[in-house]
Amino acid sequence: MIATAGSLLAGARKGDKRSIARLLTIVENDESGSADILRSLYPDTGKARIVGVTGPPGGGKSTLVSRLAAEYRKTCDRVAIVAVDPSSPFTGGAILGDRIRMRDRFLDEGVFIRSMASRGHAGGLARATMRVVNVLDALGTDLVIVETVGVGQEEVEVVRVADTVCLVTVPGLGDDIQAIKAGVLEIADVLVVNKADKPGADETARDLAQMLTLGHGRTQWKPPIIRTSAQDGSGVEELVRAIDQHAEWAQTSGELEQRRAGAARQEVEALLREALVKRLESRVGSERVSDAVKRVAKRELDPYRAVEELLDQ
Ligand code: GDP
Repeated sequence: MIATAGSLLAGARKGDKRSIARLLTIVENDESGSADILRSLYPDTGKARIVGVTGPPGGGKSTLVSRLAAEYRKTCDRVAIVAVDPSSPFTGGAILGDRIRMRDRFLDEGVFIRSMASRGHAGGLARATMRVVNVLDALGTDLVIVETVGVGQEEVEVVRVADTVCLVTVPGLGDDIQAIKAGVLEIADVLVVNKADKPGADETARDLAQMLTLGHGRTQWKPPIIRTSAQDGSGVEELVRAIDQHAEWAQTSGELEQRRAGAARQEVEALLREALVKRLESRVGSERVSDAVKRVAKRELDPYRAVEELLDQ
């Protein structure tokens, strides 16, 4: 496996897209060899810029992300799009994947596209996304756009990996705007009203501005509200400027360092937990652990006591 990973790495470093795709699959699914790949690539990570794009389905994110990728390609040699669909555990992201493949041909060679869904990700989708982003980063991608569908907790976790998060809304969202309020607004660095060619864009922008005044900003950054029409591309340059401004602010204010430190802590803690559980299982025997689980399920034992007993052994 290590030999395979080694030859894949060599191919990927030369820019071979099949090798890159295979490497990404290995780290995405945490297959054997994944740790070796990430270990050897880790020193080269931390260079790419990561932009997150999220928002309710149908808001034009895919269209907008294609535009963003094209716009960034004017200054970046290599741009990657990682499209994540947490809502489709059964299709394996096929629907999103198909749409991405369809638009793939409109983009150029310098844009690499990858889609992921929630199926089979050891340790969660956000961590799998981070691993994929790290590989792309280490292989010399200048900018990675992470796109998610929806505004639920999992989507929030996924885009949290980004240095700058864009929340895409559309005119006339009505009740949906209430759903957005819940969690995602707090992590949005740039607010986008897409489909600004449609009526009601000004009202939506006003609603968003109003919602921003209600929240207590965690930082000094005031999220700008940008109107775009992804269909004809208007406002996209302005959006890129807003993203770049945020990136610059994040860099100088220490926010970027803080976010990356937070991500590193989460990853180390997650791995530590996994390693500790594995170690415990090998010490007390996995049968004892599954036995305790069974007894908890039968209500013979409470989960707290179960953990205490296992640790005592
Ligand atoms: P997603 O689900 O958020 O990724 O949305 P899509 O990018 O698939 O777009 C959903 C629909 O909205 C498609 O039919 C797009 O052509 C359309 N659309 C995207 N951007 C705009 C826009 O700026 N204006 C209008 N009128 N339609 C748009």
